[in-house]
Amino acid sequence: MEQFAKTGDFCPNEACPDYGKLQDGQRQQNIIKFGKTRQGVPRYRCKTCKKTFTGTTGTIFYRKRTPEHEILETLALLAEGNRISSLSRVKGFKEDTILAWLREAAQHAEAVDEVLMSEFQVERGQLDALWAYVGNKGEKKLP
Ligand SMILES: [Zn+2]
Repeated sequence: MEQFAKTGDFCPNEACPDYGKLQDGQRQQNIIKFGKTRQGVPRYRCKTCKKTFTGTTGTIFYRKRTPEHEILETLALLAEGNRISSLSRVKGFKEDTILAWLREAAQHAEAVDEVLMSEFQVERGQLDALWAYVGNKGEKKLP
């Protein structure tokens, strides 16, 4: 991914033929503006794969080796009450790695909330529990 890619500069859907393609210099741009979310975050739509995404998708973890979608999905599963240890086994990530993502996500909690609620159907209360967990580092269990 380009280091200075901005929101809406590329399609964040890994399954899309235009995934990660920057809009600059393209005769036919595939990303269009698509209104805003209730929280006022700009929404975009990819004309190629027809997926909509919010301003933050693809930008929170975009320099990580693991695709952002994988990270967000792991966070969504955590929010839904799965334990880090079982996610680590199922997904093959180290527990420390997952914890590091969680801590990083907490620094962008608002943006992560937005994506997890709109794209992973995670509920508000589950997210509150997730952030409470990050603030409670000694504990290994979700509340
Ligand atoms: Zn696309």
